[in-house]
Amino acid sequence: MRRVPVLLPYPFDRPFDYVVPEDLDVRPGAVVLVPLNRRESVGVVWDGAPDDAIPVERLKPVSAVLDQPDLPQALRQFIDWVAQYTLAPPGDVMAMALRVIDRRPLDQPTGWQIADTGSARVTPARQRVLDALASGSPVAGPALARMAGVGSGVLKAMAEAGLIAAAPMPARPMFASPDPDHPGPSLSDAQAEAARELVEAVAARRFSVTLLDGVTGSGKTEVYFDAVAESLRQGRQALVLLPEIALSSQWLERFERRFGVAPAVWHSDLGSRQRRLTWRSAALGETPVVVGARSALFLPLPDLGLVVVDEEHETAFKQEEGVVYNARDMAVVRARLSAAPAILVSATPSLETLANVEAGRYRRRTLRSRHAGAVLPEVRAIDMRDAPPPRGSFLSPPLADAVRETIGRGEQAMLFLNRRGYAPLTLCRSCGHRMQCPNCTAWLVEHRARRHLQCHHCGHTMPTAPLCPSCGAAHSLAAVGPGVERITEEAALLFPEARLLVMASDTLPGPHAAAAAARAITEREVDLVIGTQIVAKGWHFPHLTLVGVVDADLGLAGGDLRAAERTVQLLHQVGGRAGRAETPGTVLLQTFSPEHPVMEALIAGDIAAFMAREAGERRPGHWPPYGRLAALIISADSGGAADMIAGALGRAAPSGEGVWVLGPAPAPLAILRGRHRRRLLLKTRRDVAVQPILRDWLARVDVPRGTRVDVDVDPVSFL
Ligand code: ADP
Ligand code: ZN
Repeated sequence: MRRVPVLLPYPFDRPFDYVVPEDLDVRPGAVVLVPLNRRESVGVVWDGAPDDAIPVERLKPVSAVLDQPDLPQALRQFIDWVAQYTLAPPGDVMAMALRVIDRRPLDQPTGWQIADTGSARVTPARQRVLDALASGSPVAGPALARMAGVGSGVLKAMAEAGLIAAAPMPARPMFASPDPDHPGPSLSDAQAEAARELVEAVAARRFSVTLLDGVTGSGKTEVYFDAVAESLRQGRQALVLLPEIALSSQWLERFERRFGVAPAVWHSDLGSRQRRLTWRSAALGETPVVVGARSALFLPLPDLGLVVVDEEHETAFKQEEGVVYNARDMAVVRARLSAAPAILVSATPSLETLANVEAGRYRRRTLRSRHAGAVLPEVRAIDMRDAPPPRGSFLSPPLADAVRETIGRGEQAMLFLNRRGYAPLTLCRSCGHRMQCPNCTAWLVEHRARRHLQCHHCGHTMPTAPLCPSCGAAHSLAAVGPGVERITEEAALLFPEARLLVMASDTLPGPHAAAAAARAITEREVDLVIGTQIVAKGWHFPHLTLVGVVDADLGLAGGDLRAAERTVQLLHQVGGRAGRAETPGTVLLQTFSPEHPVMEALIAGDIAAFMAREAGERRPGHWPPYGRLAALIISADSGGAADMIAGALGRAAPSGEGVWVLGPAPAPLAILRGRHRRRLLLKTRRDVAVQPILRDWLARVDVPRGTRVDVDVDPVSFL
């Protein structure tokens, strides 16, 4: 009796063995149905030798092989790799690849065909139906009814009379093939040179990683589209990861302009039917290009020829829930396992990627100027100590003047503040009480238009209170600090004639709203855009010439390892929205510390020098990317329970050459959704792998029910 390992989509740490009935064709990668605890579960036949620990008589048989495409070997290897790197159970990782499979075979669409069994009366209407079917190939019901000008009742009656019969429709690929030779823009010499190198990398059909960097507006997208075109010519599949697909309407339009058709899109908001069809098409190799969010990495693309990660510096590539992984890094692994090139794209590459270039692991191609002679915007600081806004306001006179002048010239301006809502803190002026989330160590953010306070961590809301809940005073609650809603209120007073548009995740729910907003800006229906980090994405707004950063110091607070790097990247990206066409742009940074290295780098436009300085600060202490980090996050129902396990982990902490443990310490978000949280941080030299140390460490401490220890390898968030 043959036995095979089957990986099940649950948090098991290894596949289970099943026996194979004679009549089943069970090969690695096949999607099967197997018994599990008196139920049946979907699973995937895995690689490797079965585990002979259990005698074959005690094993259950595979129930069925499902009519689904196999999971390709490169994807199975990738799943194992991600699991071992992140310490997530392989079954949980595989569940991400399998999420869309259900047990039904995919419904084959049916149409109508002429049947020769009928001898019923043929009315003129019926004759029109028969004429429409004369070619012999089946036609779908609605189309047939339209062609013949009849109702569905006529078709039904004809079927009953035996004049026509249902027939399967020939399978048609769901996604039209993008045309690599569709006329695209002609590239400048610098662009063409970069494109040539990327095309060669794709043609080589080998693993390589290239960083494509270049100033904002230099045409990086057009350049890597040439690599996508080469992948199409090779007949392989290209995968493009974007940090937020809902904010990518302009990207999709450009793709269609370049290749004549839309690509297959993959993200978590797809409807379930669309998901199933896309998954299946991907598995059958019928999606020449897939663009998606990080989860697209787990699509069963059988012949991957190129992986592109656009805006590679974006923290949105880090998945923080469930399997905790960084899609940028895993994209490189996926490419390697598929013997395909990877291209990482950014105007502000991460220090991780720069270090890989420096170490010779990645190649680099740089575009040094903006396309079509557009110049980079001039960046200036507004020192808020010299030019304070009027009391209770947040826009300084120089910024307000600049906005007014820009709008007056018929150009567009943008105000950026990375904070949703009206005010981040509500304070009682009588007793000093602060409105806090009952479930989290966090203040409640006022959303004035909705008349409520909201926790941005757990979503808890409560109506705005007329009285202080602590001292009962009336009219004593004051909004402290601004969010975009408050800036919008101020802007409406300052610029009464201006047409305002707010861009924040809660004002633009979903891809359609974001696309409509982008279109309104491009078509000059808007004078002033006010937005959160959404506005920093790769938008191209040709008439936008001024960007004002309301609080340039905002991201620097807190001791986060990457606070400075992230602030430079974010503000440089926001500023990069200005002056992308003929008229030059200006960026104004409101700051209390214009002498801060971050501000100086932005003003000088010398991000490279800043990153070199940042590297110099991280290198000696073995901070990433010059060392490795992993976090353990302990969470429990009570502070005591969390402390107990945190303490036990602290006592069991690994030690050794090039190994350091920091903590335990309360997490900055010490309580989240009612769970008490503690953190430990493992830091190692770069040549020391953290996974074996972590496995060993975790095995030495028993975690009771109700307490969790989550592992975050290469943490991005330190909350
Ligand atoms: P980046 O991604 O580097 O910020 P984009 O790829 O968005 O730059 O290019 C900026 C703008 O310039 C886009 O509207 C793009 O279509 C246009 N563009 C870039 N290169 C060319 C070219 N060779 N011909 C015509 N338009 C171009
Ligand atoms: Zn909360």
